Amino acid sequence: MINKIIVSVLPYLPKKFVWIFSKRYISGESVGDALRVAYQLKEEGTRVTIDHLGEYISDLSQAKGVKEVYIDMIDRFEQAGLQATYSLKPSSFGLQIDSEVCFAHVREIVEKVHGCHSFVRIDMEDSSCVDAELELYRRLHELYPANVGIVIQAYLNRTPSDLEMLAKLHSKEHPVNVRLCKGIYVEPESIAIKDRKEINVHFMEALDFLFKNRIYVGIATHDRSLTSGAQELIQRYSLTDEDYEFQMLYGVTPELRKELLAAGHQMRVYVPFGKQWFGYSTRRLKENPRMAFYIIKALFYRG
Ligand SMILES: Cc1cc2nc3c(=O)[nH]c(=O)nc-3n(C[C@H](O)[C@H](O)[C@H](O)COP(=O)(O)OP(=O)(O)OC[C@H]3O[C@@H](n4cnc5c(N)ncnc54)[C@H](O)[C@@H]3O)c2cc1C
Repeated sequence: MINKIIVSVLPYLPKKFVWIFSKRYISGESVGDALRVAYQLKEEGTRVTIDHLGEYISDLSQAKGVKEVYIDMIDRFEQAGLQATYSLKPSSFGLQIDSEVCFAHVREIVEKVHGCHSFVRIDMEDSSCVDAELELYRRLHELYPANVGIVIQAYLNRTPSDLEMLAKLHSKEHPVNVRLCKGIYVEPESIAIKDRKEINVHFMEALDFLFKNRIYVGIATHDRSLTSGAQELIQRYSLTDEDYEFQMLYGVTPELRKELLAAGHQMRVYVPFGKQWFGYSTRRLKENPRMAFYIIKALFYRG
C-alpha cells in the first residue's frame, strides 16, 4: 500500500528530489557519466555493460537517434581504451512498429562492435516482445555469432522450450550467449510463474541446462540463494571464466558483488545512463511497485 502511494506521487515530485533516490542506480545523463562509472568499476576488477535508457518509441524517426547514441557511445569507449559491452532494448529501435527497421538499426550496432571485438546484449522486454526479440537474436546470431547475445527470463512458462531452441542454434563456430535473469515485468499468471520460490527452482533448472550444454551464461541476479546455487553448479561442472560470469545492476548489492569477485568469479555490472532517467525510473516503479521498497531501503542504508 505504502509502495503504491509512493509510486503514484513520484512523477509529481521535483526531478532533483527523485534523483536523490535514482542516482544510486543510474550513472547520469551522458556517455561521460557512463565512462566515469565504468572507470570506477574497472578499478575493482568489474566489467561493464552500458545501457542507454529508453524504450517503446512512438515514432520510427526516433530509432535513428537512438542508434546514433549507441554508435557514438561505442566510439567514446573505444577512444578511451575502456572495454565494455552494450545492452539495448529493441523496442527503442521500433521493434513493435516495424521489425525490419529495428533489425537494420540493431544490425548496424552489432556490425560496429564486430569491428572492435566487442559485444551487444539484446535485453528481454515484456512478453509481447519475446517472440520478436528471439527472432531478432536468431538473425543477428547467424551473421555475427560472437558479437551478440540474448536474455532468458526464468519466470516465463515458455523458457524451457526457448532454451531447447537456443541449444539447437549453439555450436563451436556459432556459440550462443545467454544472460539468465528472473524477469522484471508484471506478467499474467497464465504465462508466468508468480511464486518466488518456484521462480528460483526454474532459474536453477535453466542454469543447469545452459551449463550442461556448455552455453556461455551471464548469471544475472542479486539473490544470494541463486548465487550460492550457481557456485555449487560451477564447481560440480568444473567450469571456468570461459563458461560464465555473474552480472548485477549498478548500485544493487555491492557487498555481494565484492564477495563474488573476491571468490574469483568474473563480474559484469549493468550501467544505465541517459536523459530519460526520470521517466524510466518512474515507469519502472509503476510497473513493479515492490521496487519502491528497494529504493526506500537503499535510502535508509545510506543514512
Ligand atoms: C545485469 C542484469 C540484467 C538484467 N536484464 C534483464 C532483462 O533483460 N529483462 C528482464 O526482464 N529483467 C532483467 N533483469 C532484472 C531481473 O529479471 C530481476 O528482476 C532483478 O534482477 C531482481 O531479481 P533478483 O534475481 O536480483 O532477485 P530478487 O529476489 O528480486 O532480489 C534479491 C535481492 O537483491 C536486492 N535487490 C534486487 N533488485 C534490487 C534493486 N533494484 N534495488 C535494490 N536492491 C535490489 C534485494 O536485497 C533483494 O532482496 C536484469 C538483472 C540484472 C542483474
